[in-house]
Amino acid sequence: MIAARDVTKRYGARDALRSVSFSAPAGERLAVIGPNGAGKTTLLSILAGIVEPTSGSVEGAGIGWVPQQPAVYGKLSVRENLLLFARLEKVGDARGAVDRALEQTGLAERAGDELSTLSGGNRQRVNIAIGLLADPPVLLLDEPSSALDPRHRQRVWTFLDRLASEGTTIVFATHDLAEAARHADRVLVLADGELLFGGTPGELETAVGESGDPVDFEAAFVAYLKERGH
Ligand code: ATP
Repeated sequence: MIAARDVTKRYGARDALRSVSFSAPAGERLAVIGPNGAGKTTLLSILAGIVEPTSGSVEGAGIGWVPQQPAVYGKLSVRENLLLFARLEKVGDARGAVDRALEQTGLAERAGDELSTLSGGNRQRVNIAIGLLADPPVLLLDEPSSALDPRHRQRVWTFLDRLASEGTTIVFATHDLAEAARHADRVLVLADGELLFGGTPGELETAVGESGDPVDFEAAFVAYLKERGH
């Protein structure tokens, strides 16, 4: 599981996060949604241990991180990139971990290909494979499907849904509300660094429905944010 308690992040005079608290048990899929600049990436970076919070704390051991743009090497093969990250992360059996991550993400056949020759969808699978190397009980993903066509998106989600059903906690940021509704057990709504809502997609839909006559979920969500001053 993973938990954040009163996490605050200040950049100069700007509050990127204001006292955000939540927890997610094993096997839960949690979506973090909200407008640009809401603090989603900041929250995930703090949970991943890459950014220090100004105050507050994070609990959770063994967290895998899939950033939007990982530092992969175009001239190395898929396998070489994974091996490099496995060694950087001091994963015990690096070769075994790489083989497992390649298998899990369906990349075994592409293992020898130079990274720069891969499609956006396959690159994203490499990003996820890197996050899986240490076999983490919690996987954090920043907009995991933004570069993917519908088919690749579906494959990535089939895989992430299965990981969750096997007990991995999945926390992901997305701008795609339909994706959040489909693949999250629970949704956190952030706006201007503030946690406005935490609940199931159904509960969010009800809360959104209260702000007028929802034409579609996305339009209603925008109206919901506006009503709350965002
Ligand atoms: P987006 O949807 O656009 O990716 P986000 O919800 O991920 O946005 P963050 O990237 O977390 O939002 O940014 C939250 C706020 O913190 C923004 O106002 C941003 O300008 C500010 N911020 C983030 N990183 C830094 C930094 N390193 N230095 C200064 N301000 C920052």
